[in-house]
Amino acid sequence: MAVNEDVRAELDFLVALRRDLHAHPELGFEEERTSQIVAEHLTETGMKVHRGLGGTGVVGTLTVGNGPRTIGLRADMDALAMPETADRPYKSTVPGKMHACGHDGHTTLLLGAARELARTRNFSGTVHFIFQPAEEGRGGAKRMVEDGLFELFPCDAVYGLHNMPGLDTDEMAVVAGPQLASSDSWQVRFRGVGTHGAKPHLGKDPVTAGGHFLASLQTIVGRVVDLLQPAVVSACSVQAGDPNALNVIPDFIDIAGTARAYTPHVRDQLEEEIGRLANGVAAMFGIEAEYRFIRRIPPVVNDADATARALAAAKAVCGDKVRTDFPPSTAGDDFAFFSQGVPGAYVWLGNGPAVDGALHHNTAYDFNDGAISTGVKFWTTLVEQELAA
Ligand SMILES: [Zn+2]
Ligand SMILES: [Zn+2]
Repeated sequence: MAVNEDVRAELDFLVALRRDLHAHPELGFEEERTSQIVAEHLTETGMKVHRGLGGTGVVGTLTVGNGPRTIGLRADMDALAMPETADRPYKSTVPGKMHACGHDGHTTLLLGAARELARTRNFSGTVHFIFQPAEEGRGGAKRMVEDGLFELFPCDAVYGLHNMPGLDTDEMAVVAGPQLASSDSWQVRFRGVGTHGAKPHLGKDPVTAGGHFLASLQTIVGRVVDLLQPAVVSACSVQAGDPNALNVIPDFIDIAGTARAYTPHVRDQLEEEIGRLANGVAAMFGIEAEYRFIRRIPPVVNDADATARALAAAKAVCGDKVRTDFPPSTAGDDFAFFSQGVPGAYVWLGNGPAVDGALHHNTAYDFNDGAISTGVKFWTTLVEQELAA
């Protein structure tokens, strides 16, 4: 009876913590309040706490026994710059910021696991609880690695977890191989010679060149990249001229977008081929092309051994509600910077049905508190199995 009451009290504590984090979202590298709360709770358990990696990053280290193996568990802490539209008692108190990706939940799960493992100490080895800033496109993981994460806290394996609507809250997906795509940006400027809209022959029209470029862009994925290899190229921004000056052909047009791939080879191909197309179109029209490809995040590719270990933990927690055939996502996660140098596995935890159709990054999205016990149990089981006493 007392045990059940303790479990209930701990769950109530974690739900309250998760909702408090939800109500106080902070953007990447600005997680002052969140990282303070994380550091306080970790310190309370008696473990060593390191702050400042990547600015607001926090690492808690728990060593039990003399087991030689060391693993890292990652949670992201940041929110998104968007308004929360759904009404809920713990709605965002900060205009224009919200936890629309469930990182409030990830932070809570890892804190819950840290508290539990520090109490039960049923393993032998070392766990680094890694709370990273700025996962949402601001480069938090990269900053932590550059600041010496793995020199200070060497890991034999590293694990990440993300909530996934559509899977039940007692369901997980653990799959070897590619999980998330690389996420890179590209920019093209076609530079012509601006002129009177009625006398195009006296200038060099960059807008028409831009149209040809856009019309040909999908031939990279359709005609160049191996058709059995997933790839995405999207133009997401086009800017030229001025709607108030409809008799002016502008000097240049700027086109920019994203490129996604699951292998280094396809990633290289996209970089090269977008540039080739831009230069080719420019040559066709006798104008100049300026091209930049900005590598942001590599793909997340699960290591076979780390995946097998994560799968064993997921099966121990979820029984046969573990999916091993879950499709990869064309989104990115900078967990890739952690799992680049160290064998890693990135797993999905069910968030229940998408409420009112709200998926990640929707203004009504919310982490499902019903997933807290599954998530905490996954982390603690992984540690107890990975670092078996
Ligand atoms: Zn996100
Ligand atoms: Zn996310």
